[in-house]
Amino acid sequence: MNNPWQAFYHNNSNNIRTDFNDPLYALLDNAAKAHPELLACVFHNYKITYKQLQEKAEIFANNLKQQGLQKGDRVILMLPNLPQTLIAFWGIIKAGGVVVFVNPIYTSQEILYFCQDSKARFFISITDCYEKIKALIPQAKSIEKYFLTQASDALGFPLNYIQIFKDFFEKKNKVEYNNKTLKFSVLLKGSKRYSAVINDPKDELALIQYSSGTTGSPKGVMLTHSNLSSDAILTKNMVDSIDINKQNCLCIIPFFHVYGLNLGLLIPTLIQATIFPMPRFNPTETLNTIEKFKITLFPGAPALYIALLQHKDLKKHDVSSLKFCISGSAPISVENMQKFKKHFGVDIIEGYGLSEASPITHLNPFEHHRSGSIGIPILGTEARIVSLENDSTESLAPNTEGELIIKGPQVMKGYWEKPEESSEALKNGWLYTGDIAVMSEDGFFTIVDRKKDMVIVGGYNVYPAEVDKVIMTHPKVASAICVGISHPTRGEILKAFVVLKPEQELTREDLLSYCRENLANYKIPRQVEFRTELPQNYLGKMLRRILRDEEEKK
Ligand code: ATP
Ligand code: MG
Repeated sequence: MNNPWQAFYHNNSNNIRTDFNDPLYALLDNAAKAHPELLACVFHNYKITYKQLQEKAEIFANNLKQQGLQKGDRVILMLPNLPQTLIAFWGIIKAGGVVVFVNPIYTSQEILYFCQDSKARFFISITDCYEKIKALIPQAKSIEKYFLTQASDALGFPLNYIQIFKDFFEKKNKVEYNNKTLKFSVLLKGSKRYSAVINDPKDELALIQYSSGTTGSPKGVMLTHSNLSSDAILTKNMVDSIDINKQNCLCIIPFFHVYGLNLGLLIPTLIQATIFPMPRFNPTETLNTIEKFKITLFPGAPALYIALLQHKDLKKHDVSSLKFCISGSAPISVENMQKFKKHFGVDIIEGYGLSEASPITHLNPFEHHRSGSIGIPILGTEARIVSLENDSTESLAPNTEGELIIKGPQVMKGYWEKPEESSEALKNGWLYTGDIAVMSEDGFFTIVDRKKDMVIVGGYNVYPAEVDKVIMTHPKVASAICVGISHPTRGEILKAFVVLKPEQELTREDLLSYCRENLANYKIPRQVEFRTELPQNYLGKMLRRILRDEEEKK
């Protein structure tokens, strides 16, 4: 083993298994068996135990089967974080179906792409999205039935949660139910239960996860039962200190992103935690929930933690119950990590992953974490930094930039119906992440940038993410994104898009002289544009692609 820290964790973890061959729903079955009366989920006044969740999931599975679902059929799940999402997710998995998550905020045209690409037969969503779904019905030919959930469903919701979404989703719509558009409660009827046999968990799909679409169109990532359970179990094993059946997990990061699914649903089920789903982020409600329910586990993304730090009443809340805050999906600055520790009394532990790896491949060891680094490969996972020039899988020397490649039980089967992209990403038995990283002498990894974002200025490789980071250390700058634009003599040059902190002024010249103090000459942006905001997605991923496209159109 060439990674001393990973060896340390291996030697200190008892009974480590790295080969998993159970159906994914074994996580739920184990929780229901070990702690049947423990609360699996709390949402306002709604509560459900692990035993009840398992029962509802199996009834749901039986009803899906009655509706005609066969093993391997895809089912679109377009729900925000709600108890129904847990029931429907486990219901589809129990039925032997394949979950296809879709973000409810997408437009009809975007949703149509996921329906057509996955050739899903069933579609589960909320009545709040009915207008969009209505527009979809005549076009999405493969979808046979739509099931929509609303406040009056059999779940017995005490509150009308349409109100929760009032400025997030569309207005309340009157749904025309018929034999194609049915109530979600249809899938909860009766008492007959079903649990499909999964013959080969390493081969049979549980999920088609569309990647975030940060660098291009989202790709359907095929994840098997054992891909997902391996990743949850191996990640959990990095945290020896986490007690089983004693955690309260606040889940704001969406289940429809594989990061939210793993850290907010699968790991909590594995450790028999109580899940507190939150359908939309509201800083005040988040702080109240942490305080009221003594939240211990709070997976998040940088944008979410930063928004909490800016809350005006932060000091009035007791957040001392928090123990595990894990950040992933985009880089978080060391400055914000320190601020978080100061106000919340707990470290943010950074990890890294990608949809193609279910998603986690790296995590900082809780007891030995390093700010600015994504940590070490999780157990059972190999990671190397290899040359960008050729296809060799030989590791480069420590501290040398190269492409990060991964081998482990969580690596996808391939992209759904995209053989060319699959063979580009899966080569020589490794997953090529498309991310450029470095490894320290003692095995800690740091992300440098995405390969697709690399800019070549006068023959030199420039990583725009490095320049963004430097600009963001300027005390007057709130955020920055640099992109490469073509140039007649240098090939490409860097252009910086900059947002200033409120009520701050800064000239182009001042900014550039700051860059000159902190960056080699060829890395200094030649153009600067000040803006009031920059494009980012719901997880706070900066969308360089949008700015690059704008520049290309000029
Ligand atoms: P697409 O593949 O469709 O362009 P995407 O790569 O953003 O979109 P995801 O699979 O959701 O889709 O995200 C994985 C990517 O997120 C990684 O490849 C990496 O670039 C970035 N990422 C994840 N965690 C971190 C982190 N801790 N620091 C920096 N970047 C991260
Ligand atoms: Mg990607």
